[in-house]
Amino acid sequence: VSAPQGAAADVHAAIDRAVDELADALWRMSLAIHDDPELAMAEHRAAARLAGAIEDAGIPLERPLGGLETAFRGRHGSGGPHVAILMEYDALPGVGHGCGHNLIATAGLGAGLALCRAWPDHPGTLDLVGTPGEEGAGGKILLLQAGVFAGVDAAMMVHPGTQNLPVRHATACVDVTMTFHGRAAHAAGSPEQGINALKALIHTFTQIDSLREHILEDSRIHGIVTKGGDAPNIVPELAQGKFLVRARRAAYLEGLVERVKDCARGAALAAGARVDFEQGLIYAERKNNRVLADRYARYFAACGETLHTSSLRGGTGSSDVGNVSLELPTIQPYIGIAPEGTAGHSHAMAEAAASERGRLAMLHAAAAMAHTAADLLASPALVEEAWQAFRTSEPD
Ligand SMILES: [Zn+2]
Ligand SMILES: [Zn+2]
Repeated sequence: VSAPQGAAADVHAAIDRAVDELADALWRMSLAIHDDPELAMAEHRAAARLAGAIEDAGIPLERPLGGLETAFRGRHGSGGPHVAILMEYDALPGVGHGCGHNLIATAGLGAGLALCRAWPDHPGTLDLVGTPGEEGAGGKILLLQAGVFAGVDAAMMVHPGTQNLPVRHATACVDVTMTFHGRAAHAAGSPEQGINALKALIHTFTQIDSLREHILEDSRIHGIVTKGGDAPNIVPELAQGKFLVRARRAAYLEGLVERVKDCARGAALAAGARVDFEQGLIYAERKNNRVLADRYARYFAACGETLHTSSLRGGTGSSDVGNVSLELPTIQPYIGIAPEGTAGHSHAMAEAAASERGRLAMLHAAAAMAHTAADLLASPALVEEAWQAFRTSEPD
């Protein structure tokens, strides 16, 4: 498949051949990462596997990167245009690769290796960036702050799901841990001397439920109790809850998270307890670049994939790729690997991430990203079109 404003037809044909040649090795790598899940920011073996494959291909590698032990970057070529392909490889507690990041890793790796093999003297710069800690640690936000994306014209990655979606919206999100401090006492013998930290946490939940009625739709607040006391005959002196607060836009989220904290402050005051907060990095909403998405969709469809259309409304997750997407033209298309209705972060999704359908979708995504990146490297005009779309569009 060739398109106007892009690489020559023989480059695209060579990319398809390279993906075929790399397919078995990519799938072995994907299964190896899948079978050896590592949590956010502790993905040492996955990072070593991916970085090793990049070095073996003769691509100069930097590791660690941006102050993160499990981040890395392979860089091929020099000058502009400058394209970055992103990889994730962190897993979840309990459900392993229930978010399928092993497929993100090898789709990105495959795209980069195929492009460099098919077009060793391509114009411009291709970065293969290993971005750790998507599940809560905000790896891409930290890499952005460290300047890793400076000068990059376009960033792309894919994410597993239940449908093939070139674009999808995402909510802004932040995590808050609330720790309530009270005073222990015998719950029957001298309760009047106790300060019940658990009551303060329970009332925080009910205050948040009251708040919910008066916030913008599309906002989400959900929490769990991670510590609620040690024994029923001791007034709990320490209670802890973890909350996620989400909203359509980060700007609104910043105010909303303060109101959620006020719920806790009020509940603590009422109980005579004290509360402190530990807040994570804000994951921003997503600005999908239509120029990149259209190009990717064309190549993904050419692999025999059926594309779906996102409603761009309703329930969705959040990702630190949103922060990248507010800085430069970015896409994170979804690849359907599991039947409709399969929950993300589930054992079923983890199974799909090691399935035959997962393998095919990963290889098709690798090809589609390699073709898209080749067109961008070949065509400063296409890159300018992507920047123009970036400047004139709002987040989804
Ligand atoms: Zn996830
Ligand atoms: Zn994920």
